Amino acid sequence: MKAHDGMYIDGAWRPAAGGDVIDVVNPADEQVIGQVPAGTALDVDNAVRAARAALAGWAATPPAERAARLAALRDGLVARAEEIAETVTAELGAPLKLSQTVHVGAPIAVAGSYADLAATYAFEERVGNSTVYHEPVGVVAAITPWNYPLHQIVAKVAPALAAGCTVVLKPAEDTPLTAQLFAEAVHEAGVPAGVFNLVTGLGPVAGQALAEHPDVDLVSFTGSTAVGRQIAAIAGAGIKKVALELGGKSANVILPSADLARAVNVGVANVMSNSGQTCSAWTRMLVHRDQYEEAVELARTAAAKYGDRIGPLVNAGQRERVRGYIHKGVAEGARLVAGGPEAPRERGYYVSPTVFADVRPDMTIAQEEIFGPVLSILRYEDEEDALRIANGTVYGLAGAVWAGDEAEAVAFARRMETGQVDINGGRFNPLAPFGGYKQSGVGRELGHHGLAEYLQTKSLQF
Ligand code: NAP
Ligand code: MG
Repeated sequence: MKAHDGMYIDGAWRPAAGGDVIDVVNPADEQVIGQVPAGTALDVDNAVRAARAALAGWAATPPAERAARLAALRDGLVARAEEIAETVTAELGAPLKLSQTVHVGAPIAVAGSYADLAATYAFEERVGNSTVYHEPVGVVAAITPWNYPLHQIVAKVAPALAAGCTVVLKPAEDTPLTAQLFAEAVHEAGVPAGVFNLVTGLGPVAGQALAEHPDVDLVSFTGSTAVGRQIAAIAGAGIKKVALELGGKSANVILPSADLARAVNVGVANVMSNSGQTCSAWTRMLVHRDQYEEAVELARTAAAKYGDRIGPLVNAGQRERVRGYIHKGVAEGARLVAGGPEAPRERGYYVSPTVFADVRPDMTIAQEEIFGPVLSILRYEDEEDALRIANGTVYGLAGAVWAGDEAEAVAFARRMETGQVDINGGRFNPLAPFGGYKQSGVGRELGHHGLAEYLQTKSLQF
């Protein structure tokens, strides 16, 4: 695969400060497909300086012109859609069809939404005898994971640019090639030098240097809770704004009046998609005891159909982590009804679609984010019991409720401690705020709520 051997800083690809590189591996066959430079604190400093120098000019650029650059960026992503999809498939392992529709389709929609929002957002408002200006927060550090390589980047960079902020991006070490393609598209969209900068590298080196940099005003991070906690502490010490999008253990609540077969089938598909590497995945299915065995049977059949159709996990470490959780589920007494810990293929970081029944709310596989194709099915006695189980984790990112009557589902959803709930299979909405209650995070992405994260107010009194 095509790879740049430099960093995109101040409008050009520049040699890295050090000589270390990161191998990019195709998780489907374990072959090295490219190399990118491993950035150091020096690269990060160069990038932050460039972003700082470009800030005043970009912040003063009329929103309509920022909107025009974002529209050009969206068009550039559309033009490169096939190349990006092939790159996501190569470095993440997602089936090509999924890369085309979700990994590339969603970020194109999000980039387009911010072209529209930049043009129409009220960056100025009148409140009594004051004019309130919504001004860019400043230099943004964006630190992104590998699970949706382009979407996670666009969900931060597009609103930041729409707001008038400048950005330094540190993408995940496992998926840097997609990030390089994104940088090319930004360049071709005519975004001025220094407004967007890319430093590839390792989290504890480049990522940490970026989060700690005194000239960064906001750190926007998506990834694990463990690293998110560190980033929040660093940002707190430096009095920086912070946005965190962390893990989840979302509940798919199937009420007795629901269309059981549909709810189970959509629920299984939701967990298996992207090989379970989705922070908002409905990894806990909650079923009434009277329908429990029927639901388990439906889930077993649905999981079996996925057999060969899911991709590998992103790397060997993730595969071992997921297999460890499967062993733990068995050890804690859950009933394995599909899949298991055995490697389904000789090569590639694959895990079979796995379903556990008889999962109790206190089991590890009902509490911790597994980030693999593993579904836990739990039994509830009545609606209050279902609510207790649904709300009984440290997380609160997403969820689903199914019921025969929409109002019944909505009433349940309103009592869930979570940031998003899909009612009877509601579709993804790129304009709806996305983010977590409780330990799933701080702040919101997407739509105008996502834009507001990158703005601060200034009030003038008259
Ligand atoms: P991670 O380590 O939190 O990675 C997320 C990003 O943070 C990556 O760019 C990473 O760089 C960087 N990073 C790592 N350590 C850092 C540090 N000390 N300072 C600054 N940045 C740092 O996540 P992971 O190891 O890839 O995945 C582990 C688990 O996190 C998964 O199993 C899953 O449970 C969860 N996860 C959640 C999401 C989500 O969307 N909420 C996404 C991915 C993973 P490197 O790429 O070099 O590590
Ligand atoms: Mg990591």
